[in-house]
Amino acid sequence: MQIEKVYEPNRFEPHWAQWWIDSEIFRASNKAQPRVFSLVIPPPNVTGSLHIGHMLEHTEIDVTIRWHRMRCDNTLWLPGMDHAGIATQMVVERQLAAEGIDRRELGREKFIERVWEWKAEFGDRIKRQMIRLGASCDWSRERFTLDPGLSRAVREVFVRLYEKGLIYRGEYMVNWCPRCRTALSDLEVKTHETQGHLWLIRYPVTGTDRSVVVATTRPETMLGDTAVAVNPDDARYFDLHGRTVELPLMDRQLPVILDELADPTFGTGAVKVTPAHDPNDFEAGKRHHLPRIKVIDENGHMTAEAGPYAGLDRFEARRRVVADLERLGFLEKIEPYDLGVGKCERCGTVVEPLLSTQWFVRAKPLAQKAIAVVESGRIQFIPENWTKTYFEWMYNIRDWCISRQLWWGHRIPAWHCECGEILVARETPERCTRCGSSRLTQDPDVLDTWFSAALWPFSTLGWPDDTPELQLFYPTSLLITGFDILFFWVARMIMMGCEFMGEIPFRQVYIHGLVRDAERQKMSKTRGNTIDPLVVTEKFGTDAVRLALLLGAAPGTDIVLSEDRMESARGFANKIWNAARLLFVNMERSGVEPWLPRHLETFRSEAGPSIEVAVEDRWIFSRLNTCAEQVNRAIENYRYHEAAELLWHFFWHEFCDWYLELKKLRFAPDSGLNADWRNVLAAFETALRLLHPVMPFLTEELWQRLKGNAARPVSIALADYPQYRGQSTDFAAEREIGLLQEIVTLARTLRIDMKLDPKLQLQGTLYARGDAQDIGRRHVDAIRKLAGVSLEFRPENAPAGAASRSAAQFDLVLDVPKTQMDAQLRRLEKEREQLEKNIANLHRQLSDETFLSRAPAEVVASLRVKLAEYKAQLSRIRASIDGMSE
Ligand SMILES: [Zn+2]
Ligand SMILES: [Zn+2]
Repeated sequence: MQIEKVYEPNRFEPHWAQWWIDSEIFRASNKAQPRVFSLVIPPPNVTGSLHIGHMLEHTEIDVTIRWHRMRCDNTLWLPGMDHAGIATQMVVERQLAAEGIDRRELGREKFIERVWEWKAEFGDRIKRQMIRLGASCDWSRERFTLDPGLSRAVREVFVRLYEKGLIYRGEYMVNWCPRCRTALSDLEVKTHETQGHLWLIRYPVTGTDRSVVVATTRPETMLGDTAVAVNPDDARYFDLHGRTVELPLMDRQLPVILDELADPTFGTGAVKVTPAHDPNDFEAGKRHHLPRIKVIDENGHMTAEAGPYAGLDRFEARRRVVADLERLGFLEKIEPYDLGVGKCERCGTVVEPLLSTQWFVRAKPLAQKAIAVVESGRIQFIPENWTKTYFEWMYNIRDWCISRQLWWGHRIPAWHCECGEILVARETPERCTRCGSSRLTQDPDVLDTWFSAALWPFSTLGWPDDTPELQLFYPTSLLITGFDILFFWVARMIMMGCEFMGEIPFRQVYIHGLVRDAERQKMSKTRGNTIDPLVVTEKFGTDAVRLALLLGAAPGTDIVLSEDRMESARGFANKIWNAARLLFVNMERSGVEPWLPRHLETFRSEAGPSIEVAVEDRWIFSRLNTCAEQVNRAIENYRYHEAAELLWHFFWHEFCDWYLELKKLRFAPDSGLNADWRNVLAAFETALRLLHPVMPFLTEELWQRLKGNAARPVSIALADYPQYRGQSTDFAAEREIGLLQEIVTLARTLRIDMKLDPKLQLQGTLYARGDAQDIGRRHVDAIRKLAGVSLEFRPENAPAGAASRSAAQFDLVLDVPKTQMDAQLRRLEKEREQLEKNIANLHRQLSDETFLSRAPAEVVASLRVKLAEYKAQLSRIRASIDGMSE
């Protein structure tokens, strides 16, 4: 059996990644099976490449998916990508700009062709990355939000919602980017904290010599004011009820309205109302039937309504308005003011709240069902606290603006006739249903990217057709995603699933944390602390990066990822590699093939007449059984960090540190012990399967090197996941090895404490009680090799001495040579002196009344604890010294 000396993941990871795909290991079956587990991927944007947050998400998904697959569930992880409307359009526009082409010159059709070309070239990158990182998706079911099937689903949903009156066209306040010339969702607007100004402007009250002062951060919008609001309870303004004020610069009379919009405790308590340029004013305008005067246009220029300022850029208009107000004496004052300025996520232009005609989904009726299914517990959020966040948002839901002024996306299936009629249809209509005209033009806008994403759990399974996939895999079992798209995506999938499938889209939603750097900083390009998954997997191996991510992934916390952590995870992989090497090399030496026993799951309790079953074999199977129980439970409850820690502990501290160390003694050519390989291999093979979901590459590589019977599956990914079996717990073996561990550990600690030469072979005596003597005698060879102590046994208690330690069942005394003893005695004397000094100091401090009256109680208490500890330590050392002096 050949096995390379060094663990080099790059030698085999790419091979298995591709082999899994070629061998169709991850294909879900369309046949019904007793248990089905399905999950749709949060589709990554086609624009990008995967970042470390994706890798965390995909690792958590993959662990769960591989675990279910190994439990023989019919398991589907459906992959795909999102066309990411505005993001992708921007990328291609930038690419065109580099060639000196504007998309408007190119025209819509040609431009979209370019985007598809771009998608063909770069869209594949993410898929290749995911395959390389071991994501066990069923690629035969890969979908893209703009493919024909999904586009058909989008149209169907749009038409049905429209026919139900749940989609309408209306004037609305939207976030508008004057540079991209499109409406933006809240998600596409980034708020920047800025030092700005608050301008206080005086509006004269008509027919009096008094005035009202209003404040604004955007003075140019005053040109579109149509009212001034005061709070109905604000006594300062009782006399203004029913009056009007004069709008400076514009020669317009504005009514004074009574509205909650005005907060008596903020500023002067009076506010200007600009229904066309502020979302709150828009709502107030609706309540009071105010006109909407639009003074800024889609390009960020002032409209004709802005009078003398028409045609100016909005910021130039701001300067002129302020200058004019000042000159005419309407400017009360200017104050510095910190405010959040919304900027376009794509191009950084300051967003303008603008009135425009858009398409909307009436959200409230859809939200009702989506609230009910979470209230009733049919959909469960993990961690549970996200439920509250979800409800807060859903109870306050506003209509959803679904149109975007873009070219890349699902075009809205609405046609405008010259007679003014709007036709919404599944197929392109030939004639207007009202006037019969054939001159129809399709609405130029496309749908918000989240519209198609909201249908993802059922559109990807073939809806609106009633497909076998839909029957089998919907509702999906689980969604794993980030908290940042809880509303934009998760909530909308729930709304759409309930509306169109009459059934929830998934049963559980696991919300993962954020990956942060070693200093717990958020990763960002500007900070320069991002971690590229491809770079680190190249450096440490995919398995190590997966393990490092999982070790930090406790529910409800962020994940700290550093080079150190990946390095130590690589060390763990290396440890397993070396364990395999040890096995294979020793077996080769003994002339044994690494051939697996027929019944892998079963520990060989009857090894045969000539071979005695070693207690360490019984022990490791018992430990494996317990580990399997705990790991299964951890994965089931999304406690990925716990699963990773359990596996780490088992492999490192039980399998390698004890089991293999004990086995090495048997492997030794002159051991005289009978080395039965079958249990060693069975234990190793079982442990590999237990580890597989976490470290798929390493486990596949080693598993494939074990020769098995023909009936075993082609891949470890299809082998059975180890399960807990009540009868497999071997208490006697656990007790025996436990005691052996205790003796060896105590002897080692004693040697370290006495700073003895590690190579020095010692004599010792075990004063053993109960069955400790029998057990100790059985392992006298192991103790000699593992602790460097040859033991004698006595039934009574040991005399106290420097070289002794006690446990519940035994006392251990080492016979230390005189020269070592003298050096040790000097060390102990020194320690004693130091302790006596410390104790005297503490005594002094604790009897100082001034100190006691000033120091906090917990400080005093901790000093007292310390004093007690020192005293206990001192008496131990004194006993040791006495023992040695005898
Ligand atoms: Zn923009
Ligand atoms: Zn018509």
